Amino acid sequence: MAKGKRTCIICGAKYSYCPNCGDGDKTETWRYLYDSELCNKIFDILSALAHDHIKKDEAKKRLEALNIPKGMKFNESVKEQIDAIMAFESKAKEDKPKRDPQIVKNED
Ligand SMILES: [Zn+2]
Repeated sequence: MAKGKRTCIICGAKYSYCPNCGDGDKTETWRYLYDSELCNKIFDILSALAHDHIKKDEAKKRLEALNIPKGMKFNESVKEQIDAIMAFESKAKEDKPKRDPQIVKNED
């Protein structure tokens, strides 16, 4: 029996982890869900965003800081979320209220 065989919920990688039989470090409990610490961190960011703990621009910053290797595989739904975050452009600059006196309505 293939005990401890798992599939990473982020990248879909097959790996084995079974702290009970010594296949894996008991302290690395994130290995229950992810094959690597990177996947763990990616999940934390996606989860924080999903629960509105962070904003999209913050999620993007954090994802960029992880230096995710190009060509890294992700589960489809995860990839969609990451793509959406990475495509996000901060609109901070455009949020400045523009008060153009010429467009003040001038109704007689
Ligand atoms: Zn993974």
